[in-house]
Amino acid sequence: MRYAGIDRCDICNGNNVGVSVYVQGCYFHCEGCFNKETWDFNGGYEWNSKIESELIQLLSKPYTKRLSILGGEPLAAPNLPLTLEILHIATDIILQKNKELKIWLYTGFTFEDIIFSRSSDYSPDRDRATAVFLSDYIVDGKFEIDKQDLTYSKVKFAGSTNQRIIDVQKSIREEKTILWNGEKE
Ligand code: SF4
Repeated sequence: MRYAGIDRCDICNGNNVGVSVYVQGCYFHCEGCFNKETWDFNGGYEWNSKIESELIQLLSKPYTKRLSILGGEPLAAPNLPLTLEILHIATDIILQKNKELKIWLYTGFTFEDIIFSRSSDYSPDRDRATAVFLSDYIVDGKFEIDKQDLTYSKVKFAGSTNQRIIDVQKSIREEKTILWNGEKE
């Protein structure tokens, strides 16, 4: 399980102050990707108990209101074990410490592709759906350079206008895709 880095006090990849974990490896290779050094699945650093302990400490801090997982591609099959492990760390903290922590997940897949391709058998598709269901918001879709918009990026925490912030839990409840309403949490 490999990661590219951690931003310990991040205000760019989601609402509020958060911790961002960048996983290592992406096969989408979008033109204009801002993070090409995360493409190589063998690059970055090996995930270990030391960085895991640090993540637990960071997520437990009172000012940390968000965890963002991005990359790289968190839902690429080789990255799913780490993505799920990080999600379980965060949900344990939320449950055990009654912590207000929102989980944001960035992916090049679309919400509908993940939800409608899931299967009940063991498969990357099922793990992808599990990762999405454990998140509060996903920012979905590949970066499209011809839709790059810096104004949109400031408000929607995404690089191109095709990328949406989806309110996962509301979408599940109402059985349709619902976008984040932009309200401060
Ligand atoms: S999905 Fe993200 S990390 Fe992967 S190439 Fe596209 S912009 Fe870069």
